[in-house]
Amino acid sequence: MVVRLARAVIGGLALLVLALMLLAAAGRVAVPPELNPFAPLDIRDTPGILTSFKVGRARSDPELCRAALDRAGLRFDPVPDQVTGEGCGFSDAGRIARLGRAVLSSPVVLSCRAALALALHERHGIGAAARDHLGSAVARIEHMGTYACRNINHAASGRRSRHATADAIDIGAFVLADGRRLTLTADWSSNDASRAAFLRAVRDAACRWFDVTLSPDYNPLHYDHFHLDVGGGRACR
Ligand SMILES: [Zn+2]
Repeated sequence: MVVRLARAVIGGLALLVLALMLLAAAGRVAVPPELNPFAPLDIRDTPGILTSFKVGRARSDPELCRAALDRAGLRFDPVPDQVTGEGCGFSDAGRIARLGRAVLSSPVVLSCRAALALALHERHGIGAAARDHLGSAVARIEHMGTYACRNINHAASGRRSRHATADAIDIGAFVLADGRRLTLTADWSSNDASRAAFLRAVRDAACRWFDVTLSPDYNPLHYDHFHLDVGGGRACR
């Protein structure tokens, strides 16, 4: 009895969602873009239940990906596809120097899907963490590079790192709008609880936008940076 009732409720809800989707597609009902699966991803929208679906679609389609960056006013200058060695090189990559509110310490080459993850993280992860824990905004993100033809952990053999396809970035420090500078080296275990809490909040939020997020908690090699990447396995450490 309960099972039949539950099935009827779920079936009814599914029909309702389908009807709303059809009406939205036909432009018959005004659905906010963040609740409309047909509306393109807007990085600036408050993340909601459809965000991961839209991000997934943009990640697998370079044209949609570039359009999403463009819609948010982010400059992503295309870089010609490259093959630089076995398992090394990139396609649909671009050069990006500035995110929504923060400038990168130097321009980087990233695949579009990695740039998209970084843009989403800067807006919804890093920005919110700085506001919540430090009462300021992040003005500058200091990185240690993106593209590099190398193996995981710089090992002589083994699997290629996501850096080898411009799908990864290493971030070591943040400079706030009020001038304060936070580094992973000095502040991950800071006596100032708000600094340590900010860095952990940045790490935790990155796990939503990147497939792999590695912090000083992961291993001693990451004592001074967050490694963030897309397109490979999944880890949040
Ligand atoms: Zn890395």
